[in-house]
Amino acid sequence: MNQQIYSGKLLQRSHLSADTIELAISRPRQFTFQPGQRIRLLDRFQERDYSLVNAPADRSLRLCIRLVPKGRFSTKLRAAAIGSCFEFTGPHGHFVLRPSGRPAVFVATGTGAAPFASMARAGERGFTMLHGVRSAEGLLYSDLFRTAAGAYVACISGKTSPAARMFGGRVTAYMEQKLAPGVYDFYLCGRSDMVRDVIWLIDERFPNSRVYTEIFF
Ligand SMILES: Cc1cc2nc3c(=O)[nH]c(=O)nc-3n(C[C@H](O)[C@H](O)[C@H](O)COP(=O)(O)OP(=O)(O)OC[C@H]3O[C@@H](n4cnc5c(N)ncnc54)[C@H](O)[C@@H]3O)c2cc1C
Repeated sequence: MNQQIYSGKLLQRSHLSADTIELAISRPRQFTFQPGQRIRLLDRFQERDYSLVNAPADRSLRLCIRLVPKGRFSTKLRAAAIGSCFEFTGPHGHFVLRPSGRPAVFVATGTGAAPFASMARAGERGFTMLHGVRSAEGLLYSDLFRTAAGAYVACISGKTSPAARMFGGRVTAYMEQKLAPGVYDFYLCGRSDMVRDVIWLIDERFPNSRVYTEIFF
């Protein structure tokens, strides 16, 4: 595990949706990573992992952060002053693309889209992207995915009717009803219950596929 401690300055904070922010942090010169990896932000009392959403060649590091109600760390990040410094370690994790002859299917819920945004920004193309959210407002990086993906499917699980060209239901329902039978490389990122449900479905309907996972909580 990479335990070197880096320091980065908060350069910018923008809102991607009502409950999601993107932070840009200055990039230490020696810091390198592969798309799909994450950093671990440290403070005196706690540490939290966040996936990088930028491409490895970009000048700043970018994080996409869901503002968890009463969340200790995400609340601090929302309020941190521009110019303040963060310490972090990394890169961490093995959730990186493993090219093969099989089609890649990326499945995300919420901010689980983050590592896939980094892969798309690094030039990955032609994948299928299923993004599960409650309402269309949560469709992070949709323009990027529309451009980079061979097929981009917004799966809207909430009560509002999905707009045209969106799927009404969870990512699992889309996979059951619409994803052609076949052998795939699945990359799953987000909540543990989604990852669990999708793995069951893959075992049943897409045997011999490979599955790579990154669980946020
Ligand atoms: C490998 C990995 C990668 C991650 N990458 C990202 C990322 O790119 N973006 C991102 O936003 N988060 C990511 N996370 C989650 C992140 O590390 C924190 O857990 C999250 O920001 C909540 O921290 P907190 O201190 O604000 O909340 P806490 O004070 O730890 O938790 C408060 C309450 O919120 C619940 N909770 C915790 N996390 C979430 C969540 N994500 N959504 C809803 N409820 C939650 C907890 O169960 C608890 O009840 C990642 C986690 C892991 C393990």
